[in-house]
Amino acid sequence: MIKKIEHIGIAVEDLNHAIPIYEKLFGVPCYKQELVASEAVKTAFFLIGDAKLELLEATESHSPIAKFLEKKGSGFHHIAFEVDNIEKEIERLQKDEFILLHLTPKDGADNKRIAFLHPKSGLGMLIELCQEKS
Ligand code: ZN
Repeated sequence: MIKKIEHIGIAVEDLNHAIPIYEKLFGVPCYKQELVASEAVKTAFFLIGDAKLELLEATESHSPIAKFLEKKGSGFHHIAFEVDNIEKEIERLQKDEFILLHLTPKDGADNKRIAFLHPKSGLGMLIELCQEKS
């Protein structure tokens, strides 16, 4: 079951440039930075009220974020939904003919297991499913 929007992902060219700008914009400090080696991204998190923002910077040219930035430039990248059982959600969505980029969950940032849907399945929106690691 999908429970709520967990965070919104924003692609940026350079975290060191973006973090102070977002800190000034939202009036809250970045609370966490984390490298996700498997995705070749560095992430930074902000909590604004109940809303969480994840900034993503590519660490290598083959990173999906590097490819995204090349095509579209910085800005909105994905929306992440918290689910109660990620394996069940992957199975349910596959049965309903949604295309998943990950058929088994992988480790994501911020203590989560994640799986992405293909943007075609989200009518152009890249969707991440995530579940807190227990
Ligand atoms: Zn995310």
